Amino acid sequence: EANERESLYLVNEFASDYFQKNLFKTDQGQAIGLSYFKERGFTNETIKKFNLGYSLEEWQAFTDEAIKKAYQLDYLEKTGLTIVKEDRKFDRFKGRVMFPIHSMSGRVLGFGGRILGNDKKAAKYLNSPESEVYHKSKVLYGLYHAKQSIAKEDNCYLVEGYTDVIQFHQTGIKNVVASSGTALTPEQIRLINRLTKNITVLFDGDAAGIRASIRGIDLILEQGMNVKVCSFPEGEDPDSFAKQNTLEELTIYLEENAKDFIQFKASLLMLDAKNDPIKKAETIRDIVNSISKIPDQIKREIYIQECSRIMDISENVLFSTLAQINKKEV
Ligand code: ATP
Ligand code: MN
Ligand code: MN
Ligand code: MN
Repeated sequence: EANERESLYLVNEFASDYFQKNLFKTDQGQAIGLSYFKERGFTNETIKKFNLGYSLEEWQAFTDEAIKKAYQLDYLEKTGLTIVKEDRKFDRFKGRVMFPIHSMSGRVLGFGGRILGNDKKAAKYLNSPESEVYHKSKVLYGLYHAKQSIAKEDNCYLVEGYTDVIQFHQTGIKNVVASSGTALTPEQIRLINRLTKNITVLFDGDAAGIRASIRGIDLILEQGMNVKVCSFPEGEDPDSFAKQNTLEELTIYLEENAKDFIQFKASLLMLDAKNDPIKKAETIRDIVNSISKIPDQIKREIYIQECSRIMDISENVLFSTLAQINKKEV
């Protein structure tokens, strides 16, 4: 219901201001939260641009303040910011640095909160639960700050995490959004599709990152978009890489390492398929399967030609493989 949604936005926006005030104006926020962001290399300007904040290490500091300001408990609970258990109220986020998640028009939908340090026992990131205003499968972190630049550059960089988006902005690349840890969804791709037909997937240099990017490729192709993939050195992610490099170095790296999806899949899969005919056959089928997702027939043909060249196999065989895949899907 529209009225209720508006109430949830207002609670979230109050919370966003409150967390930001904690960060800059309380001793705990400065000593713990702000110094954490400084260690990560974020400037005050960047912190303010993304409305980053801090949740105090207390049981109900936020909830008390919100109730004092006359926000209704019902709405506090529905945003997930307050947890009510047997008549007792608790703050969801405690002792975490806070990343507000904005809609395309800048409303606050929810939050991601990161623990400080790298304690392996606690979940690194805690997010707002699904609510009437927050549907995580339909949101891309950073889209509000990136939309103009995505349209202008006619390309969108897709990364995994909040800090990847923020560090890129600070380095000077603004056409970047994050799926924030959820597997990429068709709704998220549709949001980008309205602004550009070109996506460059930037994944973390670890096995999980590679897997996630491979899953994303077919979904992007299905929407008739062009997809490139760029990997980072092992152990690096877009955040850590951007932090160590200038805008010029980062730009050159992206230009030199962004591969068309087909080259990416071929080089990745061929690593362990070089001298193994069975694996090579699987790889080729895998690539043709991705090509089969492309709605445009001319593009499909061009990619088949390219695949033929890269994999050194005849176009005829690839076309008949494509036909087999299409038949199975009907
Ligand atoms: P950082 O640099 O702060 O350590 P990251 O963004 O590099 O974080 P990754 O481990 O690469 O973190 O995960 C990518 C994204 O996945 C995160 O930004 C976050 O949105 C999400 N994520 C990671 N860990 C969790 C978790 N335990 N629970 C929920 N979401 C998570
Ligand atoms: Mn990762
Ligand atoms: Mn990462
Ligand atoms: Mn990281």
